[in-house]
Amino acid sequence: MTSTSSIKGWCPGALRPMESGDGLIVRLRVTGGVLSLKQARAITKASLDFGNGLMDLSSRANLQLRGVTHETWPKLINALTEHELIDNDEEAESIRNVMASPLAGIDPTSLMDITPHVRALEHHLKATQALHHLPAKFGFLIDDGGALSIKALSTDIGFEATTINGTLSFAVRLGQADEVALIHPNDLVQTANALAHYFLQARRGHEDSIRRITNLVAREGAQKIFAHLGLQTLKSKIEFHDRVSPVGFHRFGTFPCLGLAAPFGRWHANTISNLIDFADRYNLTSLRLTPWRALILPGITEEAAQDAIALFSHDLITQAQDPRLAIAACSGQPACLHASVKTQEDALAFSRLVKSPALSGIRLHVSGCEKGCAHPRSSKVTLVGREGLYDLVVNGKANDTPLRRGLDATWAAAAIKEMLEGDAA
Ligand code: SF4
Repeated sequence: MTSTSSIKGWCPGALRPMESGDGLIVRLRVTGGVLSLKQARAITKASLDFGNGLMDLSSRANLQLRGVTHETWPKLINALTEHELIDNDEEAESIRNVMASPLAGIDPTSLMDITPHVRALEHHLKATQALHHLPAKFGFLIDDGGALSIKALSTDIGFEATTINGTLSFAVRLGQADEVALIHPNDLVQTANALAHYFLQARRGHEDSIRRITNLVAREGAQKIFAHLGLQTLKSKIEFHDRVSPVGFHRFGTFPCLGLAAPFGRWHANTISNLIDFADRYNLTSLRLTPWRALILPGITEEAAQDAIALFSHDLITQAQDPRLAIAACSGQPACLHASVKTQEDALAFSRLVKSPALSGIRLHVSGCEKGCAHPRSSKVTLVGREGLYDLVVNGKANDTPLRRGLDATWAAAAIKEMLEGDAA
């Protein structure tokens, strides 16, 4: 096991857990975010047996088990290996960075089932040694064109299912560039491979300035990069329109689902264990993890969904209008060694001041330090912990220059009220 928290650009996994204030963090990358109930049960049991029972769902739909010790870690890995949740080696797990539409294969409003493409791309990434030199955070995204769009999420190489003149294709997007190239669906793996190799070749000697595909696009332009692969480009701006919230009961086409979110991305294994028992009772077979810190029970009847909402509304977010969905907060003190503030407690107190509906995205980010792990993007208000107080950043990221410094919780609350005044109730 290699464990550390201080190497720049380094990403934790299950085989490379990260040291934190409450022990080791073991991060699981679940293929396509799909967990059978059996696998989900194994994870919650491992969290309770070998960790402290706290589980985080990340903004890339990865699951993190907290509070694991150096003694319990090998047992946890053994327990999860049996359920095909652990890769063969550290390199394979770190390269397997593929985000997929959370309802892949079951959403009748989607344009195609992307499941085989997700598996094939993961397999190729693991098997291709040369691609293991990609930067740790380099990622791929595959969107099926269905109800829960992930197109607007940040990634390096995105494949968006689309139909043009009745022909089904993937539009390939580099970062969030305004140009795409169209490919036949069967060419996804070979296109991902060619683009990743081109990226590696282009950054040689420029590793500090070209860390992600957006750096290369800024230098060469998407058109030139695609031209190297013999692909033509067309203009296509990314759609940032309000997405459908996965939280609450939905029917996508005729297919029913219930989305339940983890407050600030964190839940207790006991809650999920109870949820698995519930799903079992109603003959459901899987859970879907989403990048919006929510999980989905697919195929649930409306009546059963109402039962679940009544049973779990204390521990999970069951309504899309819940103000906590408009707030991002990292682990903070005492779970993170870099924090000097209790971000999760403070975020809960601040949630009374945030009235904007969840669909307008993250309005308030409470960050334990300027790393901004919980929300690496801009938000209307960001509070950044420093020496037990908060610095205030407006319309920026956690590492941007603060407008005010050294606010205690009362002054921070006043600033939130002032800045978010006028938000829709
Ligand atoms: S942002 Fe939060 S979780 Fe990330 S390092 Fe800073 S205090 Fe820790």
